Amino acid sequence: MTADSGFPASVASELTKLSNLTADYRARDAAHHMHPFSDMKALNAEGSRVIVRGEGAWIWDSDGNRILDGMAGLWCVNIGHGRKEIAEAIQRQMAELSYYNAFFKTTHPPAIALAETLARLTPPQFNHVFFVNSGSEANDTVIRMVRHYWATRGKPEKSVLIARHNAYHGSTMGGGSLGGMKPIHEQGGLPIPGIHHIAQPYWFGEGGDTTPEEFGIIAARALETAIEEIGEDKIGAFVAEPIQGAGGVIIPPSTYWPEIARILKDRDILLVADEVITGFGRTGNWFGSETFGIEADLMPIAKGLSSGYLPIGGVMVSDKVADVIIGEGGDFNHGFTYSAHPLAAAAALENLRIIENEKLVERVRDDIGPYLQKKWLALGDHPLVGEARMTGLMGALELVPNKPSRALAFPDTGKVGTIARDFSFRNGLVMRAVRDSLILSPPLTLTHEEADHLIAVASKTLDDTHAEVKRLGLA
Ligand SMILES: *Cc1c(COP(=O)(O)O)cnc(C)c1O
Repeated sequence: MTADSGFPASVASELTKLSNLTADYRARDAAHHMHPFSDMKALNAEGSRVIVRGEGAWIWDSDGNRILDGMAGLWCVNIGHGRKEIAEAIQRQMAELSYYNAFFKTTHPPAIALAETLARLTPPQFNHVFFVNSGSEANDTVIRMVRHYWATRGKPEKSVLIARHNAYHGSTMGGGSLGGMKPIHEQGGLPIPGIHHIAQPYWFGEGGDTTPEEFGIIAARALETAIEEIGEDKIGAFVAEPIQGAGGVIIPPSTYWPEIARILKDRDILLVADEVITGFGRTGNWFGSETFGIEADLMPIAKGLSSGYLPIGGVMVSDKVADVIIGEGGDFNHGFTYSAHPLAAAAALENLRIIENEKLVERVRDDIGPYLQKKWLALGDHPLVGEARMTGLMGALELVPNKPSRALAFPDTGKVGTIARDFSFRNGLVMRAVRDSLILSPPLTLTHEEADHLIAVASKTLDDTHAEVKRLGLA
């Protein structure tokens, strides 16, 4: 920033201070901090954005820019940033008991209260929870619990878990294996044995000439085919997200989940609904399972459980599974030092109290959900958008070179998505790019005014991206 930048001297000097501060943060970050899922060499050359503050649906970077957080952090900050009630709840618990474990015949009040609250809020078959610290740990726990369940029932050979291509279940050895993401499998010798992946219900990308309804049936029947090939006597569980999140907000056709239910109805195979994103109001019900009529036996949860204020996750265990694991299973040799951490449990309890008190689930179903959906779906008219979709407050825009055809994608998949994502950030809205689509998952507290602003920025972002795509000769 120079003296002739056009700003009054006092403002220019403030901006210079900020840009020096940002440069300092970036240099130290590049020197020592390895980011998740990042090419560090490329990132260090470009420089990270330094986020310094959050309030409601907004975040601020170290240059003083205010940005609308269209991803609720990483799909988790359901109640919005900076809630004092959570800080106070954590502080109260900290003063009482900051840590104790539940390994050796001990427990503590926040764990008890949170387990009881979750039994009340989750679908009726769930009355027990196994606490962990993340969605990845929840899915690792699922793998071990499914296999322990069948071993306890005298069928240890039912050890195969079926999941889907392009699913995301975390990035630990277990979660990364269960997930169907090639870039994850390519590193570290994944997947572990006993995981089988089938087709995903991604009509826009893979549905060819079928209707969405036809494709929902076809994709579901991939499960039936896999069961017939592998053998029901070898399969322990089918694991799926109600809506694939990280895979690109893939909302299954209406026929998909009913067909899955039909296939599993007379078969002795557990159903696991990974609700790490779709839980806690995201789809307009407490759980995505309710939105899609899924009756799961196990349900991994995390993210919105604490709105990200502290790390905590869990696996909800149905009575059917709990009767075996608790009733006959003996020791379950699994757990984490911080399972049911009292501070994280206190944060989660307060978060759930806020979601209930402020009726955020009803708000997504009846108010802000329909309000934003209407405007979001209208973005589908933009010449760059092949499909706009949204359920609850989870949406995607598929960018295509040759509207209305879905058949042709941009060359060099991901390039246009990244261009759009970067425009969006610069325009003041965090969206995420998955392949050549833009993903949205804002806080459930989003106001109508913020929704209007979000749509205006998204619309400008599409225009900017469209101009750039033309300039590059990609459309
Ligand atoms: C984020 C996510 C996970 C992994 O959660 P972490 O807390 O990052 O380990 C698992 N499943 C789904 C569906 C997710 O979106």
